[in-house]
Amino acid sequence: MSVELEELYQEVILDHARRPRNFGELANAAVLVHGDNPACGDEIHLGVRFGPDGSLQDIKFSGHGCAISQASASMMTTKLKGKTRAEATELLRAFQDLVTGETTKQSQNLGDLLLMQGVQKFPQRVKCAMLPWRAFEQALQQTAGESTVSTETDFSNSGFRTASPLG
Ligand code: ZN
Repeated sequence: MSVELEELYQEVILDHARRPRNFGELANAAVLVHGDNPACGDEIHLGVRFGPDGSLQDIKFSGHGCAISQASASMMTTKLKGKTRAEATELLRAFQDLVTGETTKQSQNLGDLLLMQGVQKFPQRVKCAMLPWRAFEQALQQTAGESTVSTETDFSNSGFRTASPLG
């Protein structure tokens, strides 16, 4: 393993990948988003429940994939739980900037997520790290229902999305 890769798979990231936090199906999820990263084979199913004030009352994920995608999802859900939509949107932008090589003022709010910075040297790994965040971005755009996003599709292109009410 190269020095760069060793940096990438740091202990904290591996710990999240081995023992993912907020892993499982979320009961009474308002929004369920299936994220797919065919380039690596990562899949994530993200469930979100909003509180009466619109904040992220609970968020859980399941699925399978490489260490980076699983760790990113675990760290993301840990970070987002309890946040307002505005705070969550800021974190989403800050994380996107971080893994694509831009450092902004908001980076300091990312905490442990800063450890994912190493992926910016590996374009394929950026997709892995962004997969849960893309699913989350989609979740924020829905108040209810189920949909699918893919790293191989421009997710702002509404033609790809399918939405249907849950249960
Ligand atoms: Zn991956």
